[in-house]
Amino acid sequence: MFKFDDKIAIAVSGGKDSVSLLRVLAKIEQKYPKAQLAAITVDEGIRGYRDEALEIAAENCKMLGIEHHVVSFKELYGYTFDQMIRRLKQKADDRLTPCAYCGVLRRKALNVASRKIKADKLATAHTLDDETQTFLLNILHGDVLRIAKEKPVTDGVHPKLVKRIKPFCEIPEKETALYAYVKGVKFQGKPCPYASEALRNDARMMLNMVEDKHPGIKFTIFKSIERIRPALEEVASKEGLGECVECGEPTTERLCRTCQIRQQME
Ligand SMILES: [Zn+2]
Repeated sequence: MFKFDDKIAIAVSGGKDSVSLLRVLAKIEQKYPKAQLAAITVDEGIRGYRDEALEIAAENCKMLGIEHHVVSFKELYGYTFDQMIRRLKQKADDRLTPCAYCGVLRRKALNVASRKIKADKLATAHTLDDETQTFLLNILHGDVLRIAKEKPVTDGVHPKLVKRIKPFCEIPEKETALYAYVKGVKFQGKPCPYASEALRNDARMMLNMVEDKHPGIKFTIFKSIERIRPALEEVASKEGLGECVECGEPTTERLCRTCQIRQQME
């Protein structure tokens, strides 16, 4: 995942996983004088939630001596997430799942911010639990070819897309939580007020139930995904990435998904 002289941007939300990742990478980085770390926090503009997480993220960075950058939806898209959701609820149908929108908007925000600070890689704190849940969700949604795209190390498919890595992809969430507790790391425990991805919650419950009965099964699923992926990558259409006609970000469509959301809203 890493090279000795990489500039690594770390997506730090302030939750236990990302704060643990920050600590672990800071420790490893000490042995590599040519490597550099920088933290990026996305400020979606969620009242009563993100403000607290921003402080926690900033505090952790300061303690570890890591530069901290904040990119906000407001400056990037012109609206806070609270404002967007209010508008989308009026315009779109009310079966709206805020997480799906937020995911798209955060992904672009992190890419833009990583590119701006000239990072070689963007590390996110997705755990073994996240990876197996997403795999199951892709199957449950019938979105099978996405399995080929969601990988622990992305290919450099476009010069404007910063390579994404997931150093915790084989670490169970219980262990990142344990690490944070043992190290006395400060993190945000409060869940996001919009967190309502019903199907993901069911996938999480299902996987935890099976893991309880058959310890190690999340690892087995992860290994299975890794084995299936090459075959899927061949099936997945090799559609080249172009650039969004509106904002210039890499996309497979004429208009990238964040610009589609903006259009929907306006
Ligand atoms: Zn766009």
